[in-house]
Amino acid sequence: MPRSKERPRQHRKRTHLVLFPCPFQGHITPMLQLATILHSKGFSITIVHTQFNSPNPSNYPNFNFEPISDGLSVDQAQKENVMALVTLLNVNCHGPFSDLMAQMLSEEDPRDPIACIVSDAVMHFTQSVADHFKIPRIILRTSSALSFITFDAFPLLREKGYLPIQDPQSETPVSELPPLRIKDLPNISTDSSETLYQVVAHTNNVTRNSSGIIFNSFEHIEEAALVKIRQDFPMPLFLIGPLHKYSSGSSSSLLPHDHSCMVWLDKQAPGSVIYVSFGSLACMEKKELVEIAWGIANSGQPFLWVVRSGLVRGSASAEMPDGFEEETRGKGLVVKWAPQKEVLAHPSVGGFWTHNGWNSTVESICEGVPMLCWPCFGDQKVNARLVSHVLKVGVQLENGLEREKIGWAIRRLMVEKEGEEMRNNARKLKDKADLCLKKGGSSYESIDRLVNCILSL
Ligand code: UDP
Repeated sequence: MPRSKERPRQHRKRTHLVLFPCPFQGHITPMLQLATILHSKGFSITIVHTQFNSPNPSNYPNFNFEPISDGLSVDQAQKENVMALVTLLNVNCHGPFSDLMAQMLSEEDPRDPIACIVSDAVMHFTQSVADHFKIPRIILRTSSALSFITFDAFPLLREKGYLPIQDPQSETPVSELPPLRIKDLPNISTDSSETLYQVVAHTNNVTRNSSGIIFNSFEHIEEAALVKIRQDFPMPLFLIGPLHKYSSGSSSSLLPHDHSCMVWLDKQAPGSVIYVSFGSLACMEKKELVEIAWGIANSGQPFLWVVRSGLVRGSASAEMPDGFEEETRGKGLVVKWAPQKEVLAHPSVGGFWTHNGWNSTVESICEGVPMLCWPCFGDQKVNARLVSHVLKVGVQLENGLEREKIGWAIRRLMVEKEGEEMRNNARKLKDKADLCLKKGGSSYESIDRLVNCILSL
């Protein structure tokens, strides 16, 4: 007999969660990791997703996947910038998500009653859907707590004239947001800064109506930001990261991983390889790629470099500069997309040149790998400041890319005396990350609080 006939639906325990990720790699991954944790705690999971950047349901047989129409044309999906896409999705998904919720909440639906919606913070329209159906909404912030308070301060930063940023190289401290300088504030290309402000304003406004905020972070690395968030936000906060340490081998990657690099890493000396990757969205000019290539070669360190399709603006595949392959033959490997978490955990990897997307940052911290920080846009500059200035497990490459400076920065990160303290700090921070996941650790306890909070909603 189907379960729904055993007990009236309204008397069944509310253990069904509806999760709605924002469809970009750095957002999908932590949401699916969160889903895996919550499923292990006894919740049934429905993942609502757009057709754009759809996750692969066959990697997650325990979840129910519900695709909804996102209304994006192929042209928009390929050509629009991230902020424009987020804006479109917040408009286009409202109707289809409301219809799906109505269907899932109807008496005929055999699933357990819905306890709450867990939505990516930037999919802000989900709050009005949640309010309409009188379902609580908990949000997942996929970046650092420090970037959360920075975005929350946007109205103040505009009022005080910090934003829009006049001088992107300004070292002037933002006294309201230590340790940030003007150059560390989130940026985005000028033609869409109004779009960014609008997305941030909508996201901020509805955050205050949510029933809780989940962060893919842990207490030890966010102490100062947490004091401020606890003062300003009355709802419960759950710092339950690093999320990737709980999840099984299921892959949320939108691109196929090239595992051949693991065999290559096996042949390198311990701690010798600089891993270089700028995530799924950052892109650069051709001349920047040339400086990076020669900078890596100049460092003399073995390297593993991710050059994904679209990394160089305007060209699907990036060509290496003349002579680079001959010069570095046998010393390094260039791949289109790497199994990053395994790469960072490999004993041969001794440094990570990163754009400081939050997932990459947390993954590096968890493996004790020091970072060369080269933030590109959005929250990455805030994260880079946290890494280099507060946690002191990385160094920032500032004021442009030049091959000589890059070569030296990589050597400093990995082998020179100047980088020793940073390397030691990175090792110590890995231990703290390990501890927070153990029984009695802050993230472990926070997950229990989250589960109890959901059950009591
Ligand atoms: N990633 C990967 N292979 C690569 C590069 C990145 O699997 O070659 C993963 C990485 O482990 C991380 C995600 O892609 O989980 C990137 O997210 P992040 O927040 O660091 O940056 P974004 O792509 O959002 O800018």
